[in-house]
Amino acid sequence: MVAEQIQARGVSDPAVLAAMREVPRHLFVEEALGEKAYTNGPLPIGEGQTISQPYIVALMSELLDLKPGMRVLEIGTGSGYQAAILAHMGAEVYTVERVKNLFYSARKRFADLRLFSIRLKLGDGTMGWPEEAPFERIMVTAGGPNVPGPLVDQLADPGRLVIPVGRSRRFQRLVVVVKQGGVLEERDEGGVSFVDLIGEHGW
Ligand code: SAH
Repeated sequence: MVAEQIQARGVSDPAVLAAMREVPRHLFVEEALGEKAYTNGPLPIGEGQTISQPYIVALMSELLDLKPGMRVLEIGTGSGYQAAILAHMGAEVYTVERVKNLFYSARKRFADLRLFSIRLKLGDGTMGWPEEAPFERIMVTAGGPNVPGPLVDQLADPGRLVIPVGRSRRFQRLVVVVKQGGVLEERDEGGVSFVDLIGEHGW
């Protein structure tokens, strides 16, 4: 998976590649799908949601420009796979999920895998996690109509946020927002397709 789908497509950050070799993706999908866990595509995780394809997880992790020890907020815990990758990269992960069943199964997975550096919250992630802000890095793994204001407010300075943004549902641009010296800069990293970011500052 790492050699054929991720390195071949240009992701080269050694920390990302190491984390993706270490985290067993099959433990984040339903047992019946286990065989497909290392193929190049998104997979259903229940509740109409999906775990992103491995390449996109790797790309977003690389774009985050993460250093060990950083505080990272992830919106859209889903299966917990992306959070586990960030934890393996040495981040202190805070992750928010709005769907109860997904929240509970991710919490169980983190405990089973002894990923104690990940903290979870059930709620609307478009509001961020104000009690734990600021965050040096923020990653949103669902697509919304624009960048939620509370997330920009809770981003540290300097800080970096990665989010799929699209005026129409289903197709988005992967946007990197860099905050530095009070100034925000946005970069477009190409087209992506994520499930909806639903909430106060989402759809
Ligand atoms: N990062 C996940 C991808 C899950 S798909 C993984 O690695 O498996 C996106 C997730 O975002 C879904 O679980 C969906 O329920 C969740 N989501 C959508 N809107 C949200 C919101 N406002 N707050 C928190 N989670 C949200």
